[in-house]
Amino acid sequence: MLQVIGDPVLHSKSPLIHPAMLHHLGLDLSYTPQVVPKGGLPDYLAWAKAHGVTGFNATMPHKEDLIPLMDTLGEDAVRCGAVNTVCLRDGAWVGHNTDGEGCLAALHHQGLWPARGVVILGAGGAAKAVALRLARENPGPIWVCNRTRSKAQQLCQLDPDGVLTPADFDPGTLSHLCSQAQLVINCTNLGMDGCPHQFEDFSFLDALPSGSGVMDLIYHPAKTQLLHQAQARGLGVCNGLPMLVYQAIFALEYFLDRQLPGEELAQV
Ligand code: NAP
Repeated sequence: MLQVIGDPVLHSKSPLIHPAMLHHLGLDLSYTPQVVPKGGLPDYLAWAKAHGVTGFNATMPHKEDLIPLMDTLGEDAVRCGAVNTVCLRDGAWVGHNTDGEGCLAALHHQGLWPARGVVILGAGGAAKAVALRLARENPGPIWVCNRTRSKAQQLCQLDPDGVLTPADFDPGTLSHLCSQAQLVINCTNLGMDGCPHQFEDFSFLDALPSGSGVMDLIYHPAKTQLLHQAQARGLGVCNGLPMLVYQAIFALEYFLDRQLPGEELAQV
């Protein structure tokens, strides 16, 4: 049995994505959502072991809390300090993070990678996974621009190779950095359904060289104002759905402990 845990969890798209992939692979494995409140992880892990759960995905608010509860951690989970995929291997819990790898695969799939110079907007959990994974590709400078500058600084300190540079989030800084970049990735909540705030100014997009791309991690709505504005300027665009799909494919590879036909599953 496979699960996705969180609180809330019923909005999660994983119980749509994983069963479709499992069905396509001809595997008779269930994948169900399970509400686990903050603080409920130790009880859940005991329950899961006793009830035949062989793997689960984790969403808010558990990604960071899982770290000390794992027996072993994959490299990406260690780097990000967060876990989104957990497998049971010989009675031991193994934690991974597939968000960064999912983002990179989505960028490749959408023709937005490789890019030389990347502006990352935000320094939360998603930005951390994306920035640290892209830094390993060494695509030239990557700027992490965040409203709260200290969080951008903390994130960049996690990068051992010094590829990441913290920066401010004001329109002037964003325009200046975009003129040296080929890709912008929005990892903030700005423009998301239910978020009361929006980018005040999209003029930074004008500074991107032609042929550049804009990815928004948001997939509700399918096309944010940022993507509308980018498309109107002739830039390549990608919403958060491909990343969601690819991180799920990598999670399923961990669950099943084998390589899967990624492009075929992405179509499914
Ligand atoms: P998070 O940890 O809460 O981080 C939120 C980020 O947004 C922070 O950098 C925060 O800046 C910034 N922010 C929030 N409100 C802002 C505002 N009014 N002005 C400027 N910046 C603002 O959230 P997360 O988990 O990283 O998720 C971020 C987004 O990515 C969400 O929309 C989420 O749905 C999406 N996501 C998508 C995928 C996918 O697979 N497509 C995966 C994960 C996340 P401060 O530090 O200054 O507060």
